[in-house]
Amino acid sequence: MLTDTSLADQLAAQRDDRLRVLIVGAGIAGITLAQLLRRAGLHPVLIDRMPAMEHPGYMLALMPTVDQAFVDLGIHEQYHAAGTPMARYSFRSHRGRVLRTDPLGELLNVYGDYNGISRGALIEVLTAGGCPVTFGLSIDRSDASGVRFVDRDGAGVAQAAFDLVVGADGIRSRLRAVLGAGTPEVVETGWSGWVAWADDSGDPALGEELWGDGFFLGMYPVKDRLGVFLGGPDADLEVGPAAFAASVRARVDELGPRLSASLDAVAADPDPYLWRLDDARVASWVLPHGILLGDAAAGFLPTAGIGAGMAIESAWMLGRMLARADRATLPAVLAAWERVERPRVEAAQSNSRMLAKLMFRRGRVVAWLRETVMRMLSVRAALGPILRLVATRPDPDAEAAAALAAAGSPEKPHSA
Ligand SMILES: Cc1cc2nc3c(=O)[nH]c(=O)nc-3n(C[C@H](O)[C@H](O)[C@H](O)COP(=O)(O)OP(=O)(O)OC[C@H]3O[C@@H](n4cnc5c(N)ncnc54)[C@H](O)[C@@H]3O)c2cc1C
Repeated sequence: MLTDTSLADQLAAQRDDRLRVLIVGAGIAGITLAQLLRRAGLHPVLIDRMPAMEHPGYMLALMPTVDQAFVDLGIHEQYHAAGTPMARYSFRSHRGRVLRTDPLGELLNVYGDYNGISRGALIEVLTAGGCPVTFGLSIDRSDASGVRFVDRDGAGVAQAAFDLVVGADGIRSRLRAVLGAGTPEVVETGWSGWVAWADDSGDPALGEELWGDGFFLGMYPVKDRLGVFLGGPDADLEVGPAAFAASVRARVDELGPRLSASLDAVAADPDPYLWRLDDARVASWVLPHGILLGDAAAGFLPTAGIGAGMAIESAWMLGRMLARADRATLPAVLAAWERVERPRVEAAQSNSRMLAKLMFRRGRVVAWLRETVMRMLSVRAALGPILRLVATRPDPDAEAAAALAAAGSPEKPHSA
């Protein structure tokens, strides 16, 4: 679990570290990196601006890009036990008819599972051995003199110096501005959607999506329940979840019990989590006074279900490479990390953007054309670029060793 710890205690614990790391944002990427660095003998300071553990409880389907991180953290079995493999994926027409069902599990199983897990369960697994964090804290400055910590009202509360500041504060990152990343490139779809939970009496190994005319309904199993996402153009969502769900119900012929229960779940939730469907990409991850990681570096549209998968891979790659770095070699190792990881993340993000062009369009003709394309285009083809990424994951140890050799600093082992 995340253990609320004072900043003073976290700073004291890291005083003698060969690399003093500050991680801003205790989300999926920040926690993964913190735990990997702990395994490498460091004591990263982890902060989050939330006043307490209030993580939004949505569902995640994670590609096998995440598996090695969990193997390294010694939590792979627990990760699988807390989730459920999504073995098959059905694509439904805009009227609700199942057009095709693909064996997602078979496509991926040489690499691992497509595992459905709730965000809360994932954070529990990642932090089961404890993970110190200081809540209610952020930073508003990082420069040669160090960082300034601020509370939720923006008042300065402390200063400290670090060798590395990691901005892992999610898709609406403020650290981009603090670290000087410039304005991100953003794709805005003009769509948003609500997330809700339904009891799943259906098939727990089956994920389903219905790409409608002016709406999108996704159903993703996690352990013992079903995560539901109902989205549409922003203007149409103004009527609220219950009325929008009712309008979708009227537009679908083949509802069946699972779709019906999913729409009921959205309608019944008085305050469902709202997800704005846009993304963001910064030009450089490694900046003069810190780096960006996860959604802060490249935040994803939901269309390929890979944002968290790539955030975890990036954190794993960084954690493994930093295990070989010290203050002198840090710049070379960070540059190598960005060189290896950013093109992979941006390729996955481009795939999501390409699929979004199919999804976030309205009109019957568009729906019909999309269904014609999807009948012919297998999931293997649609996810081709992502499957290639999964199949070609680089070796962080070799990359770090090459970076150290190129910097004229052959590797010395660091004691944990
Ligand atoms: C509804 C939904 C469904 C999704 N489904 C999938 C899926 O199926 N598969 C998949 O791979 N991905 C999915 N994603 C994407 C995935 O959740 C993100 O890519 C992933 O969470 C990114 O991790 P992160 O650590 O970068 O950001 P986050 O997990 O968002 O964490 C950011 C953290 O930073 C903190 N923070 C924010 N601002 C500050 C600040 N100024 N100072 C300090 N702390 C701050 C926040 O409180 C939070 O704890 C989904 C996302 C949503 C919203």
